[in-house]
Amino acid sequence: MFKTRFTETFGVRHPIMQGGMQWVGRAEMAAAVANAGGLATLSALTQPTPQALADEIARCRELTDQPFGVNLTLLPTQKPIPYAEYRAAIIEGGIRVVETAGNNPGEHIAEFRQHGIKVIHKCTAVRHALKAEQLGVDAVSIDGFECAGHPGEDDIPGLVLLPAAANRLSVPIIASGGFADGRGLVAALALGADAINMGTRFLSTRECPIHPQVKAAIRAADERSTDVIMRSLRNSARVARNAISQEVLAIEARGSATYADIATLVSGLRGRTVYEQGDTDLGIWSAGMVQGLIDDEPTCEELLRGIVEQAQGLIRKRLEGLLSD
Ligand code: NAD
Repeated sequence: MFKTRFTETFGVRHPIMQGGMQWVGRAEMAAAVANAGGLATLSALTQPTPQALADEIARCRELTDQPFGVNLTLLPTQKPIPYAEYRAAIIEGGIRVVETAGNNPGEHIAEFRQHGIKVIHKCTAVRHALKAEQLGVDAVSIDGFECAGHPGEDDIPGLVLLPAAANRLSVPIIASGGFADGRGLVAALALGADAINMGTRFLSTRECPIHPQVKAAIRAADERSTDVIMRSLRNSARVARNAISQEVLAIEARGSATYADIATLVSGLRGRTVYEQGDTDLGIWSAGMVQGLIDDEPTCEELLRGIVEQAQGLIRKRLEGLLSD
């Protein structure tokens, strides 16, 4: 077992988090991670309405007696999002920890804190993490360029971004992007983090509520099989490379593409059909470089136990053994 500022602050057994996973962070996923001793989140915007999120929170409570959180992502969307109503569903649902991610979290952080909810802000730059710390967050999740989803525009991988963040921050740090096993956990702790966050790794678990063909695609892919799309719109997203991501890149390469030129291709609702129907070319879906390290489909309990045991073995047997007088 590990005891870190993360396990102490959030009251979980393992220094491992399952953060926002659009279309995947449903009750089955969050409950499995919570039952396995990690900090789990439901993804708020996966639910079509605030009432649906309230129902999903209740459904998750039926599947686990462990605490779990909610991810609220703040990025450009095709349709306006009623954020105040989603916040109310989270607060009224008795959630005790929220992961915000994306731009301008200030008003959200303030309201959650007023209700005694712990807040983790996930960001991709040290300057944004410092701002979140000033706003009073309980922890920051630092997302390196390896990550799935939105890596920001600075392109700094975790190996540099994490210690750069640790040099400046006082609050606990969750290392995100590129983590899948005990080697990553040991590395993250060495770089100054208190926990790791994983998304892509959780896609290929037994309890993950997506089509088996998508899980198989993750296992078959290597670390090179992602694309970063929407760079020209300054809303970069790392996604699994497929026919649609290649089409989007081709449109962007022609120059002066607007969001309207790619909107139907990148639509989240279209991406959702990949997870439901299993055809990985139906739309855009998120995957990180770390898919190159994933080749099995454990239960979440097996996964988290395995990561912790591998990390302990590495520290006790490999790292200690490298020391000489
Ligand atoms: P969507 O269908 O509205 O948009 C699809 C993609 O296009 C998203 O990446 C979105 O950020 C981007 N986008 C939308 N409007 C844009 C604009 N005007 N300019 C530039 N980019 C634009 O969104 P969705 O897929 O239904 O997702 C809903 C929310 O969840 C968004 O905030 C999205 O970024 C976020 N998301 C989170 C994750 C995660 O893992 N946490 C993954 C994917 C998406």
